[in-house]
Amino acid sequence: MMLNEDEWQQIRSLSEGTLANTIALQSKGISKQQAAIILHKKMVDAYNTLTNGNLPFEDWHLIQYFQLNHYGPDCNKCGLPLRTPNAKLCVSCGSTYSN
Ligand SMILES: [Zn+2]
Repeated sequence: MMLNEDEWQQIRSLSEGTLANTIALQSKGISKQQAAIILHKKMVDAYNTLTNGNLPFEDWHLIQYFQLNHYGPDCNKCGLPLRTPNAKLCVSCGSTYSN
């Protein structure tokens, strides 16, 4: 299930990408490694709540790839999304993208 920008920002605000989250936990005596686990759990919980999904905890790192903005427009030929918003070549079918 893909995330729009608002949903992604909600989840990102829970991650260790937001340094304040790690600092807040460390100030309670929680180790950096333990803090990361706690924050990844929050991200997965938020993702599953938003998408009504059941992503397992171990796959927390995949969430970043579920952003719609992470990808480009759909390929003219095969219809799969291009890898990045600026991609000019489809890695799936090899055709050149033109809009
Ligand atoms: Zn293609």
